[in-house]
Amino acid sequence: MTTGTITDIQRFSIHDGPGIRTTVFLKGCNQRCFWCHNPETLDSKPQLQYFADRCIGCGACVERCPQGAHTFVEGVHRLDRTRCVACGACADTCYARALVMVGETKSADEVVDVIIRDRAFYETSGGGVTLSGGDPMLQLEFSEAVLARCRDAGIHTAIETAANVPWERLERIIAVSDLVMMDIKHMDSDRHQAFTGVPNERILANARRLSENGVPLIIRTPIVPGVNDDKESIGAIAAFVSELPGEVSYELLRFHAMATAKYDSLGMVYEAATIQAPTTEDMARLTEGARTWGLAVRHS
Ligand code: SF4
Ligand code: SF4
Repeated sequence: MTTGTITDIQRFSIHDGPGIRTTVFLKGCNQRCFWCHNPETLDSKPQLQYFADRCIGCGACVERCPQGAHTFVEGVHRLDRTRCVACGACADTCYARALVMVGETKSADEVVDVIIRDRAFYETSGGGVTLSGGDPMLQLEFSEAVLARCRDAGIHTAIETAANVPWERLERIIAVSDLVMMDIKHMDSDRHQAFTGVPNERILANARRLSENGVPLIIRTPIVPGVNDDKESIGAIAAFVSELPGEVSYELLRFHAMATAKYDSLGMVYEAATIQAPTTEDMARLTEGARTWGLAVRHS
């Protein structure tokens, strides 16, 4: 039985590829973009989230935790994450849902059973299934199994990936994918490393090989002020995309600092919390610039 660790199965999604889709979010990513809006997917293992504003101070977690991670200091609940081993016992006992485990193990069959329920919507809208995350490439066997079974059922299959993996892994996944969506965040490798934690050479080489292999490709750039919201940065990416030989389109995605509650719940620092979203005019200006490279460009 092939299993994977996922955070969510989102039905009736309209932002993760064509038509109405079911998007499965997998845990684990090998980049650390400081603006990431899905911090709960970065770590490959299940984690405990704590939403302080929901706590009713009942003390049940203090009794339940075998590690002594929960205490009350002057009447205020405290969680010591250094003690937590993510067993999930406190989340089971917290009726207020202030404590929630994120990340659960599912078999490929269980996930496909959920995806298949909405087959009629996929057929009428041109939709299907999208694996997202995190990066689904880090759980290759599980991703491969889910997509292969969906394909056998006649469902359109798509994957969202950073493509920061050896080519041999991508080669396996494109055998069961009708569409690949991948990010290019910056063409300057040093800046890419500074912003995401990894250089970009392998990502760019994989984009070329994906395109040469004939898999339809959507290249996307999240527009993050101070990172790549300038004409030169987007122009350099657009120039690269314009030279890819296959069926390729290009999208610019507007950054929004909307993940503060998630970062807080995980005890993580949200470095992008105070960054203002690009304006509509900024997005239009960058989109027009990218179109001068002869590309079909969309923006959010
Ligand atoms: S069980 Fe939940 S609501 Fe009760 S004290 Fe613990 S965190 Fe707060
Ligand atoms: S998940 Fe387990 S170890 Fe972590 S705080 Fe809750 S009960 Fe304690």
